Amino acid sequence: MEQARIGVTGLAVMGRNLARNFARHGHAVALHNRTAARTRELVEQFGDEGTFIPTETAEDFVAALERPRKLVVMVKAGAPTDAVIEEFAPLLEPGDMIIDGGNAHFLDTRRREADLRRRGLLFVGTGVSGGEEGALNGPSIMPGGSAEAYASLGPLLEDIAATVDGTPCCTHVGADGAGHFVKMVHNGIEYADMQLIAESYDLLRHAVGLEPAEIAEVFRTWNTGRLESYLIEITAEILDHADPETGQPFVDVVLDRAEQKGTGRWTVQSALDLGVPVAGIAEAVFARSVSGHTGLRAAAAGLPGPRPNSADASAPGLADAIEKALYASKIVAYAQGFHQIEAGAAEYGWEVDAGAMATIWRGGCIIRARFLDRIRAAYAADPHLPTLLTDEHFAQALGDAQDAWRSVVAAAARAGIPAPGFSSALAYYDALRAGRLPAALTQAQRDFFGAHTYRRTDRDGSYHTLWGGDR
Ligand code: NAP
Repeated sequence: MEQARIGVTGLAVMGRNLARNFARHGHAVALHNRTAARTRELVEQFGDEGTFIPTETAEDFVAALERPRKLVVMVKAGAPTDAVIEEFAPLLEPGDMIIDGGNAHFLDTRRREADLRRRGLLFVGTGVSGGEEGALNGPSIMPGGSAEAYASLGPLLEDIAATVDGTPCCTHVGADGAGHFVKMVHNGIEYADMQLIAESYDLLRHAVGLEPAEIAEVFRTWNTGRLESYLIEITAEILDHADPETGQPFVDVVLDRAEQKGTGRWTVQSALDLGVPVAGIAEAVFARSVSGHTGLRAAAAGLPGPRPNSADASAPGLADAIEKALYASKIVAYAQGFHQIEAGAAEYGWEVDAGAMATIWRGGCIIRARFLDRIRAAYAADPHLPTLLTDEHFAQALGDAQDAWRSVVAAAARAGIPAPGFSSALAYYDALRAGRLPAALTQAQRDFFGAHTYRRTDRDGSYHTLWGGDR
């Protein structure tokens, strides 16, 4: 019986498309799903795309795989992933490998990797980005796990990944949970990117006074320059789209409530644990949260302040200034995300090559963009760059953008248009630039009410002041 190079269990959209991607690249794929009908369906619909070996029981699935076995799990993250691992692990032999391509939390991946390693099995938690279309035609793949595991799995993954300039969008990220950690931060950056684009749209519409179709044209123009990216491209398409039923701009018939699955929240929670200021990502997560609090919004809707289009915000050149503010804020969001990757690597003992992460995000994933080439160049010039903001190109871009950036944030405030992404990015930039921060006063207050002590600017050591008479 022919054996499969790799097996996929969990054949919903992602698993099915990954399995088809392997088959289309000439790799025989064993198939398994809890509900066997999905397996049969895949073979019926796409059986002519390559060699599929459909199986119905866990034992048959494992028996269909070449040794050492490689078994990709594409099921719901959380308890289902644990259940599936426990179903298969006892059937495997030392040296076999389980690959979790779901959106697992990196701490779960660390736990699973340690557990399976004790049992003689290899475990690779891997980020897979690009949604259903990416899984089929070439995703960006972020595998963690051991170097030994990558040595045998890597070539297969690189074969099905997206490629840019001949380079696959897949590389070994680092040990145990590093792949899922980087995928999580990638998703956090995606939240920030989307929020900044949404703010740009809001300002173009309500401060500049453009209609959605006109804004689509602006985004299309931006997409020919340094902002060229998948997200800008689809934004133009969405804004140009009319609702077939009402003829209204599509964006006007969509309820203004942005949902979230949780990876943005995980990014912020992890950043809080690591002590890394990812304000741009946090603002993006909170902006979605604000949008969902419809009762609160309805209660506050009558509060005084300028109304859209009523303010004197529009100034000549505002649209160009928004492009600059968007680019500058995007640099800040990525700088914060890469800071988190660096801090995560230090905390969990991974060696993550920041430039390589920018490289594998250039294709296949939602944040793919021309901009990532710049980040790659920045880390190539200095692998120990303290922050992306100080890279020569980005520092220059921020310098060039800042007057416009400040005017956009001011215009948004004057017009009563919420721009938390732009504002917080600018505040972060100014905080890092500032020679002195008011944190000195904060620390003095802590010493006053809690005897938390303070350090002095003029000598070493910790000090406490006896404040007032009775303290
Ligand atoms: P999904 O809706 O997250 O999961 C459905 C799959 O999980 C089905 O195959 C289902 O089997 C299986 N499953 C659920 N509970 C199970 C259990 N207790 N035991 C065994 N199997 C179980 O599918 P998806 O959207 O294709 O995503 C798969 C994974 O990829 C998820 O972790 C997701 O977060 C991640 N991911 C998704 C995307 C995306 O764009 N959708 C992108 C990147 C990563 P049955 O058919 O028997 O119900």
